[in-house]
Amino acid sequence: MMHEPIDLSRDPVEIIATDFQGLFSGDLGLSSIAGGQTAADAALARLDVVGYAKNRSEVLPKTRRGATVLSPYIRHNLLTLGQVYKAVSKAPFQDREKFRDELFWQEYARHLYARVGTRLFQNLRFDANWDTPGDGWNREMACVDSVVSVLVEDGWLVNQTRMWLASHWSVRNQKGWLHGQERMHRELIDGSRAANLLGWQWTVGAGTGKPYGFAKWQVEKRAPGLCSKCPLKNNCPIENFPDESSPRQLERDPMLDSDPNPRLTAGPLEPIQLRKPEKVLLTIDSLGDGDPALAANPDLPVMFVFNEHALKKLQLSSRRLGFYLQTLQDLATRRNLEVLLGDPYEYANQVDVAVTFAPVPSFKKFKRLAEVHPYHWLRLPHAGSVRSFSSWRQKLDQGINQNH
Ligand SMILES: Cc1cc2nc3c(=O)[nH]c(=O)nc-3n(C[C@H](O)[C@H](O)[C@H](O)COP(=O)(O)OP(=O)(O)OC[C@H]3O[C@@H](n4cnc5c(N)ncnc54)[C@H](O)[C@@H]3O)c2cc1C
Repeated sequence: MMHEPIDLSRDPVEIIATDFQGLFSGDLGLSSIAGGQTAADAALARLDVVGYAKNRSEVLPKTRRGATVLSPYIRHNLLTLGQVYKAVSKAPFQDREKFRDELFWQEYARHLYARVGTRLFQNLRFDANWDTPGDGWNREMACVDSVVSVLVEDGWLVNQTRMWLASHWSVRNQKGWLHGQERMHRELIDGSRAANLLGWQWTVGAGTGKPYGFAKWQVEKRAPGLCSKCPLKNNCPIENFPDESSPRQLERDPMLDSDPNPRLTAGPLEPIQLRKPEKVLLTIDSLGDGDPALAANPDLPVMFVFNEHALKKLQLSSRRLGFYLQTLQDLATRRNLEVLLGDPYEYANQVDVAVTFAPVPSFKKFKRLAEVHPYHWLRLPHAGSVRSFSSWRQKLDQGINQNH
């Protein structure tokens, strides 16, 4: 495959329109949440979690929201979980603990995906509907329509409305959750397989056996006033909760109970150098200035290779691509950076690169790396149960990983 250079000096929307033809879906546009380390640092400096415990699930008006909107930065390790965890150390006890619980959900998603890999694309513990084709979001309702519009136009939603959409798609409308998660993954600028698959599995009951029901009740509680604008306000299709269901429990998967090789799951704990690297290669999972491979090689040129084959298949939104481009443009103000469109795995076969380990199945496609750096874990993956968040958490070591 040819590697085509991307000229970052242009406007991100122009770059997407010209260089990414056939590689994205939907209309052209950017999210209101800017990409880049500079934007991430500013968001961290503004972080205030006072009231978080009470308000994290509020949807509208926006001023009532407790959500921090850090997820796009956390997902790409522009902010590490360890950094954000420490940043709230002086917050009031309840808010700090609730917020840190959520950071642990992110870490749990990463550990689970690192352990079970592509198995996370199938029902984990209970038999939920995963494959029925079709669109589960009927947009004649103001609640669904407004949330889907924000998803498409801004590429970001609060946790509460992600749960509404996942539940509505699958629990009420009986469309396969795998298709719904694919749709959401395409749009979310914080989209990760780990957190998105976990979010869908847990909402539809595949992870817990207890599907989350979405009804008018949540809309009135979390977004008061929205129903009054709905064309179906006198004939609300979600007046009542969906019928309760108890999905059948699946055969126990031993990988959820224990990990025969937790060291392999975690990746290297110290840098490994097989050859002297000529360049640093960044991946989507670690785009921050603190990327271990980048920080360890301050004088080397930096590369980022957009995976053309994957993009063709994934058809990510312009908002997602825009977030990456803004992040790379920001980095280019500090480092000698070259961006290509092609095949990152093939590139690493041709050039001696330093890379940071990523706990995702595709990392195995790198066959020839000169130097590999450890991932930014908040806590190291353990060998015990990952069947539920609580069983996973009981086994975690005390104390955060102070290195990251
Ligand atoms: C169906 C569904 C799909 C989801 N898809 C994604 C996804 O693709 N990427 C993603 O990062 N999160 C995903 N989540 C989790 C969660 O909704 C978002 O992380 C959160 O809404 C981001 O907003 P915030 O940064 O304001 O979160 P805050 O409430 O401020 O929380 C702080 C941080 O904790 C982490 N976090 C919070 N809630 C969760 C959670 N339930 N699971 C995992 N991490 C969490 C995030 O890193 C977040 O930035 C999904 C949840 C659901 C229900």
